Amino acid sequence: MTDRVLDISAADVCYGDFQAIFGLDIHVERGETVSMIGANGAGKSTLLNAIAGLVPVRSGTISFAGSPINAVPAHKRVGLGIALVPEGRRIFPSLTVEENLLVGGHASRKGPWTVTKVVQAFPLLERLFKRGTGGLSGGERQALAIGRALMSNPDLILLDEVSLGLAPIVVKQVYDALPSVKAQGTTVLVVEQDVNQALAVADRFYCLLEGRISLTGTPGTVAKDAITAAYFGLTHNHGGQ
Ligand code: ATP
Repeated sequence: MTDRVLDISAADVCYGDFQAIFGLDIHVERGETVSMIGANGAGKSTLLNAIAGLVPVRSGTISFAGSPINAVPAHKRVGLGIALVPEGRRIFPSLTVEENLLVGGHASRKGPWTVTKVVQAFPLLERLFKRGTGGLSGGERQALAIGRALMSNPDLILLDEVSLGLAPIVVKQVYDALPSVKAQGTTVLVVEQDVNQALAVADRFYCLLEGRISLTGTPGTVAKDAITAAYFGLTHNHGGQ
């Protein structure tokens, strides 16, 4: 059995004639937290959607736990252990917080995540348990959306733009939960425009620029100006002048 949860090789993704991703090679090992950073339009959401099966790859291979899944439809990928938390924090508006979590656990795979574990990871959900979702703040909705996805006990959770539109203090609250997610053995691929936040939680990162990987490495071992250059597509001046 492979310890490589996700292995993407030479993937091209297109919307009609427009190519959004070019020959992408990335991999994620079991138990890792990997961040995908990049500017607006770099292709980050497209990549997550391709892994979740919502957009097809035109060529190349996406392998999950050692098997190619290009031909596996999105709903079956959930059963394989891939959960996507899309941008926009979609939750069921007519259900309470607790019911949203329980729905997420319906037909769940075997694994460590229960309502209790989710609330331990996201303590801010506890006092909201019996409440409807109407009055929830952006951060509370994000925590609930991630918690609901965890309830399916995924091997790999894909988080899209966790911090988008959230106040910094709330972003921190949501990101503070990621070490507990990792501690349960769940592998995380998080897409993020906030570079500092993304690097703070990651074991490794990739930077995507116009559909191609412009840099990869381990946070702390790559110079900040190299990351800035890769993010914006600037020529990196090694002399720092
Ligand atoms: P953002 O942070 O703005 O969401 P991103 O890095 O997630 O950026 P994507 O949303 O993946 O980028 O978009 C990559 C490219 O694909 C962009 O040029 C975008 O305009 C284009 N694109 C995304 N979705 C579609 C679509 N449904 N049809 C056509 N083009 C699309």
